[in-house]
Amino acid sequence: KFSSAHRLGFGSANPTGKIPLGLKRKGLRIVVTGGAGFVGSHLVDRLIARGDSVIVVDNFFTGRKQNVMHHFGNPNFELIRHDVVEPLLLEVDQIYHLACPASPVHYKFNPTNVVGTLNMLGLAKRVGARFLLTSTSEVYGDPLQHPQKETYWGNVNPIGVRSCYDEGKRTAETLTMDYHRGAGVEVRIARIFNTYGPRMCIDDGRVVSNFVAQALRKEPLTVYGDGKQTRSFQYVSDLVEGLMRLMEGEHIGPFNLGNPGEFTMLELAEVVQETIDPNAKIEFRPNTEDDPHKRKPDISRAKELIGWEPKVSLRKGLPLMVSDFRQRIFGDHKEGSN
Ligand code: NAD
Ligand code: UDP
Ligand code: UDP
Repeated sequence: KFSSAHRLGFGSANPTGKIPLGLKRKGLRIVVTGGAGFVGSHLVDRLIARGDSVIVVDNFFTGRKQNVMHHFGNPNFELIRHDVVEPLLLEVDQIYHLACPASPVHYKFNPTNVVGTLNMLGLAKRVGARFLLTSTSEVYGDPLQHPQKETYWGNVNPIGVRSCYDEGKRTAETLTMDYHRGAGVEVRIARIFNTYGPRMCIDDGRVVSNFVAQALRKEPLTVYGDGKQTRSFQYVSDLVEGLMRLMEGEHIGPFNLGNPGEFTMLELAEVVQETIDPNAKIEFRPNTEDDPHKRKPDISRAKELIGWEPKVSLRKGLPLMVSDFRQRIFGDHKEGSN
């Protein structure tokens, strides 16, 4: 068991003999890049609740100040408006690197994945911080293996419309492993599968946010292609738990973090109908280029080595984001006012 894990890079990630993080947990200084975004802000909530000092670094490209505003005034919380493509000097113990234009409509614009990751690895090297990269299931491309294991190298079109994201994250993984091997940086890699929950961007074109917003606005649910393509949808609290376990654990990864429950887009539309509006109509639209046909994580590695598995099913999780969406769509809150 050990040797196969070791071959994959799952061996001990603490060769430096530093004090295990568990022993000095109180008072950790943690940077969360992209901490004003959807996943980042939920992670920040957990870290602050645990008693750590958190510095959020975000350029508000897709993130919103509102997502972290409830921590303003807390001496353990700082917010820095900064683009990680520019160098940054801080003194910290851990870096959760989430900054990334994460949805197809945004991610074409920006070299964050490569230059931003390089800078944050440079920072980790200089101060001896542990670095966690939030990579993505998109590194598997349109997968020829199903479900996807971490050992699968993927099937990515290097010149396609999605490649800026896929290849950007693949390069970010490469840089992360190079800094680990070459400079001894303690690293962790998470490959995140589709995640949903409160504070998701409403209009960034992802399927769960689209369907929920459409159902609430009494618009038809837009199913792309024949709707038979599949995805596995993970509730955000499960992901945050996985990220924290990975950071605190002794294994580098990469680890798939996702919910193995697999749904076609038509099935997802049905769950949204059941949850929000049984009368919601479905409208078919042409699919985007290079759309992966199916995606489902094999999470046995994370189960075995970091003791993690998701707890919230789609039918339980979806209702938990509806009131947040309702409030942001119809409430007094002004959308996007940073
Ligand atoms: P998000 O868009 O809500 O958050 C990304 C955050 O990064 C935003 O707050 C944005 O303003 C910030 N950002 C972008 N470019 C930046 C830059 N150059 N400098 C500083 N900040 C910058 O997206 P999310 O869903 O919370 O994603 C978080 C991470 O998880 C990303 O790295 C994403 O690739 C990864 N991921 C998410 C999913 C998912 O389904 N949500 C799936 C796979 C991977
Ligand atoms: N870097 C940073 N903050 C730091 C240290 C480095 O932003 O505290 C950036 C640095 O500007 C460089 C990148 O990280 O662009 C890589 O740094 P590294 O020291 O590994 O490479 P070098 O500067 O030697 O090429
Ligand atoms: N999709 C859809 N309707 C929408 C938005 C997306 O049917 O309004 C489909 C899309 O074609 C893809 C799947 O839903 O097959 C997931 O898309 P998303 O952008 O949410 O995530 P990703 O493709 O990155 O997994």
